[in-house]
Amino acid sequence: MALVSYIIGACPSCGTPESYGNVMVGGNTLSRGCLHCKHWDRIPLPELRKKVIYLDQFFFSHAFRGKHRMFVEAQKRITNLALAQQIVAPYSNLHEDESQLWTEAQRAPLLNFIKQTSLGHKFSYEYEVKDRQIHYRGVGCPPPPGGGLEESGTSEKGPLCRLRSTLYGR
Ligand SMILES: [Zn+2]
Repeated sequence: MALVSYIIGACPSCGTPESYGNVMVGGNTLSRGCLHCKHWDRIPLPELRKKVIYLDQFFFSHAFRGKHRMFVEAQKRITNLALAQQIVAPYSNLHEDESQLWTEAQRAPLLNFIKQTSLGHKFSYEYEVKDRQIHYRGVGCPPPPGGGLEESGTSEKGPLCRLRSTLYGR
């Protein structure tokens, strides 16, 4: 017996009307089940080909103010494309930082607006991106803890590794 969230009709196994439907989506697979028996189907979905875009604070600020139709319409199109799984427009800690420059009454609504447009998707923190970029440039730093990076092949600590340790404490 499954927790069916969207009924599509009769169960193909036990025949109970209005008992079969969508249970969940995980990765590229739709799972369907029955409210009355153990029938379960796994249906492959088309592969997603989302484009990742970065919307800077300039864009969000204008869209949030709503004074220029061009930005408002672009924000609506971006949200619709994100809901249609065509793009993803994550927000970053830079948006959070730059939202602090607004008045106290506007900060939270602006950040909520940004998060709604991003549909909750978030980039890695700026310092994590910089850390990975330094590592990938082959300076021989050991991978940061929890960074999910493979061993660099050397344990020698060069000047950039020491700089990273100084900046980020690792
Ligand atoms: Zn059934």
